Amino acid sequence: MRIEINRPLDMHLHLRDGAMLKLAAPHSAKDFAGAVVMPNLVPPVNSAEAMSAYRSRILDAAGTHAKNFAPLMTIFLQKQTPEELLAFKNTPGFFAMKLYPAGATTNSDGGVRDFGEAEPTLRAMEELGIPLLVHGESNGFVMDRETEFLPVYRDLAVRFPELKICMEHISTAAALPLLDEFENLFATVTLHHLLFTLDDLAGGLLAPHLFCKPIVKRPEDREALRAAVFGGNDKIMFGSDSAPHPVSQKESAAAPGGIYSAPVLLPALTELFARNGALEKLNGFLGGNARKIYGLPETTQKIALEDTPQSVPARYCAEDGETCVVPMLAGKEIAWSVCE
Ligand SMILES: [Zn+2]
Repeated sequence: MRIEINRPLDMHLHLRDGAMLKLAAPHSAKDFAGAVVMPNLVPPVNSAEAMSAYRSRILDAAGTHAKNFAPLMTIFLQKQTPEELLAFKNTPGFFAMKLYPAGATTNSDGGVRDFGEAEPTLRAMEELGIPLLVHGESNGFVMDRETEFLPVYRDLAVRFPELKICMEHISTAAALPLLDEFENLFATVTLHHLLFTLDDLAGGLLAPHLFCKPIVKRPEDREALRAAVFGGNDKIMFGSDSAPHPVSQKESAAAPGGIYSAPVLLPALTELFARNGALEKLNGFLGGNARKIYGLPETTQKIALEDTPQSVPARYCAEDGETCVVPMLAGKEIAWSVCE
């Protein structure tokens, strides 16, 4: 069997920098029309200059795939003035502001500590029509900490009714009703939260390459997310949260959170949707919904997949030979492949 989909969008992606960027960028740029790139570098991407320079490094790293790939750039929300926001908006490639509660994830120490102090910035974004992406993960390994964050989304949605607010990678059944309740709330969902539960991470031997934040959840959370996504909820967009970390760190006594899914996303998503009789919802989830929500241009480019099995490599290494990363589903078989 062969299917064709519109060239997709990844609405939440970590590309890193340096050798890791060179390794990761082609994996996304090969199959995707664009991706929302997270700004949590060291130092964070918090100015128009830093954003433009990072965008150039991404396009460089994407190589021959750059011509079909648009990095949708984000800037780390601090206390920017309306003038600064306007300058961002007028800078090519700018897409949205990313709000990190301080200390929430990798390299987020410069984030906002009190949402009240960000109020003037959020108000100006509302007026300028700049979307707000909220990183809703918790810093602690405590089940359901994400649901503690839900009142914050609710509060933001009420206080800034004209602001488009995206809950970045929701992972619980409890987050879904907010999408019905507030017109201006949207969400991204990852592939790994549709595939895995806590048993996959820690039910047997610990699987550090499946350790991410938010952590994969209970089967009932996964089922609720699947029902919403396969049911075609048009407020939910695909955001991989693909986040490479060097294998030396992931397989250590202090493994950072992050799953590297970029190389397998399209075939694995197609397999999952096919198994669940939901192939006709793939286009919406993989970019159609996002294009409508944010008014992004439609694409005329297609990408084809066929049900030819492939094996996922055990690891990918950068040109320096030292920076290696283990992809999601390493060593496993996927039932579908992208047609070259
Ligand atoms: Zn992320």
